[in-house]
Amino acid sequence: MTDTSDTSAAPADMGWAKLADARKFHFYGADTRSLCGRYAAFAAPAEAFEPHMGGFTPAPDDCSACMKKLEKLTDKRSVK
Ligand SMILES: [Zn+2]
Repeated sequence: MTDTSDTSAAPADMGWAKLADARKFHFYGADTRSLCGRYAAFAAPAEAFEPHMGGFTPAPDDCSACMKKLEKLTDKRSVK
């Protein structure tokens, strides 16, 4: 079990995870569904989540649909 207390941007039940049947990392929210709606995380083991990717740095293995939705969510939070 990884200590995720330093990932202030996302709760422990939210983050990027790569499921066995998914080719890319998807961002899963508190409702256990990926932001793109294609996967559900209830079958994902805790170790599937990548705490170090809990931030908002785009990576090649990240689902682009999830990334776009995540960017919209963060835009609402951070007012420039
Ligand atoms: Zn996705």
